[in-house]
Amino acid sequence: MGHQLIDNFGRQVRYVRLSVTDRCDFRCVYCMSEEMTFLPRAQVLTLEELAMVARAFVELGVEKIRLTGGEPLVRRNVGQLVADIGALPGLKDFAMTTNGAGLGKHARQLREAGLQRLNISLDSLDPTRFRRLTRTGDLERVLAGIRAAREAGFERIKLNAVVLKGRNEDEVLDLVDFARGEGLDISFIEEMPLGDVSDHSRAETYCSSDEVQALIEQRYPLLPTTESSLGPSRYFRMGDSDTRIGFISPHSHNFCASCNRVRVTVEGRLLLCLGNEHSVDLRAVLRRHPGDMAALKEAIIQAMPLKPERHHFTTDGDVQVVRFMNTTGG
Ligand code: SAM
Ligand code: SF4
Repeated sequence: MGHQLIDNFGRQVRYVRLSVTDRCDFRCVYCMSEEMTFLPRAQVLTLEELAMVARAFVELGVEKIRLTGGEPLVRRNVGQLVADIGALPGLKDFAMTTNGAGLGKHARQLREAGLQRLNISLDSLDPTRFRRLTRTGDLERVLAGIRAAREAGFERIKLNAVVLKGRNEDEVLDLVDFARGEGLDISFIEEMPLGDVSDHSRAETYCSSDEVQALIEQRYPLLPTTESSLGPSRYFRMGDSDTRIGFISPHSHNFCASCNRVRVTVEGRLLLCLGNEHSVDLRAVLRRHPGDMAALKEAIIQAMPLKPERHHFTTDGDVQVVRFMNTTGG
């Protein structure tokens, strides 16, 4: 079969992030505006279409799939999709990014269906602040979700924290200590200018990974590792703990040269780069040729030359890409 997804810059696409819904039970200030209009159901890929897209990519050589959204766990019957994808031969790494609120209910079923890894978003350990950042979230429920995930047998759970200056950068060390205490990994994310979120000026809240790293190193010297997650994180270890610390730095450390990923939006748009609008409408192919795997694969192969060399985010707060993160798949 061989690997068939290679772009014009010699990069092999091995990683697909699949958005399974644009809906969410949270309204995080960096991701959504308070009042969101979600897509009509007919525009969203069905679970069968999503499973077919996943299978096409794996048969073309993709090794890693991450389900994201929106909040994947608010999609009805997402467990069936997880089971379908979990059964694909050739898939080496199957992960989900979630806000964690639904894990108390779903963790065990997801693990049994073949999901291997979880990233759980957690920006604050203070209930009031957590509520302010997520607008609707309940910290206690998320912490219970993290415990449920561990009990269900998920290993190397990774926390994701978006750091905003003036909002939660003073919690960076607390979050590191929490991860150490619970035996979790943690990645700190620079805020990306996706969508006009109206809550805050992104130029003012921007906090670089280098600043976050300096905060952590006040307490824990960080040792660089060469470990890769097939993703853009740079990882560090501490001398006295298994916890790994990652930095995802779309602004300050350009990772485009080694980018091996593409995204599929909840509407079935194949996005070749998060920071550009280059895309191919896979939903049109799926609905024009129902069940036709060859046509779908051909459309994916033909899309590869559209992958641009790099993105062009800046830190001045301008919105260059008007898509919201929840439709894109974070
Ligand atoms: N709802 C799930 C969650 O929150 O983990 C999955 C989707 S969410 C869009 C995926 C990740 O993107 C989360 O870790 C979230 O913190 C992050 N994210 C959302 N908006 C972002 C932004 N503007 N800049 C950087 N990261 C963002
Ligand atoms: Fe929902 Fe995740 Fe966006 Fe927060 S970051 S609003 S949890 S999709």
